[in-house]
Amino acid sequence: MDDFIKKNIRGLKPSATLAINEKAKKLLKQGNKIYNFGFGQSPFPIPEKIVSTLKENAGKKDYLPMQGLKELRVAISKSLLSKTGIEYDKDNIIITPGSKEAMLLMHVAFNGEIILPAPSWVSYEPQAQIAENKVHWLQTSRDNNWFPTAEDIEKKIKSIGNKNIILIINSPNNPSGTVCNNLKEIAKVAKEYKIKILSDEIYTDLTFDQNYLSISKFYPEGTFISGGLSKWCGAGGWRLGFFASPDGNKEFINALKTLASESYSTVNSPVQYAAVEAYQGNYDDYKAKTTHILKSVGNYVYNNLKSNKVLINPPQGGFYLMPEFLNSKFKTSSEMCDDILSKSGVALLPGSDFGFKNDKMLTRLSFTDFDGDLFLKNISGSKELDDDIIKKYAPNVVEGTKKLAEWHKNL
Ligand code: PMP
Ligand code: GLU
Repeated sequence: MDDFIKKNIRGLKPSATLAINEKAKKLLKQGNKIYNFGFGQSPFPIPEKIVSTLKENAGKKDYLPMQGLKELRVAISKSLLSKTGIEYDKDNIIITPGSKEAMLLMHVAFNGEIILPAPSWVSYEPQAQIAENKVHWLQTSRDNNWFPTAEDIEKKIKSIGNKNIILIINSPNNPSGTVCNNLKEIAKVAKEYKIKILSDEIYTDLTFDQNYLSISKFYPEGTFISGGLSKWCGAGGWRLGFFASPDGNKEFINALKTLASESYSTVNSPVQYAAVEAYQGNYDDYKAKTTHILKSVGNYVYNNLKSNKVLINPPQGGFYLMPEFLNSKFKTSSEMCDDILSKSGVALLPGSDFGFKNDKMLTRLSFTDFDGDLFLKNISGSKELDDDIIKKYAPNVVEGTKKLAEWHKNL
């Protein structure tokens, strides 16, 4: 039966992020005390006005254009212009069921090779594999905040030779929680060698210093942007994303449109109408508050977990930290994560799911296991959220952090 499945699909497993979420939920249901630091989902409610817009549009039953609702593409185009300073025309934007699908379509249509910095989000490599695009990993270092240096990128491009190349950059980053400090230098090399960049900006609205920095600012003509409602708007389950291209790639956008039309046809209509409100309305206050909470909770975990044997870079945006638990007990990070889960109840993902070698004791920790609705209702302004507040509104995160630290001490 093995040859019934295509060779490039055969070795693939269900996505690690979704799998750990289901595993943690199952263990919880069986009565175990679990700290779900494995899955990265916004803990916050979707802003009310966006939800009511969805309700008002629940009766919209007709198919929308393949490329997506025009008003929504206009709203995204304006939002990108105001955040990045770069014009992404509505005709160069395609609406997708989550940005994950946007990336998959990109891989399927693209004829070339992919450069992925390690760490990279779990789905980039399998998607490339599905589309039979060769992946070139680029190791990064803690010292460069877990992003590639321009020199490393240049070397890699030279070693690949004269082929079409897309480099994926995700800042703030999943899994490291860090922000790229050398976007300008990376853009310069990309421009020199005329490679394309996919800037995955799904977390960029959740940058802790509130500075939305896109690499498109330094290389507008070569940067694709993907984004969506899943993270900043708390709407992961709505599955609404987009792909935006600079001018000059009409055929590529048309290819994506064709792939969309031959697969999901068009994204569901009510959510597209609600998304117009999300991109047109002013949600700065919501973003500021949710980001403030994430920053405070992330810093709490960072401060209470880091030691000379648990190495972590400070969180700068999004939901994640990437602790490295120095030890010589485990052969692989995956084996270590199994031990952590069984002994402390903390679900983490191993660094090997993000492009690191098995024997690097890196993990991804998502600090979103708290009731974001309750937390939001009980804070005001940008007042510092002290440990007592974190303990009150993010008790699982606090307890799980303690369990993790204890697990490591008892190794
Ligand atoms: N990129 C990164 C780095 C992510 O963490 C996620 C979260 N799933 C996505 C893309 C895809 O998000 P979505 O498909 O929900 O837009
Ligand atoms: N982005 C989330 C994570 O990395 C989960 C959703 C997904 O992977 O599609 O945990």
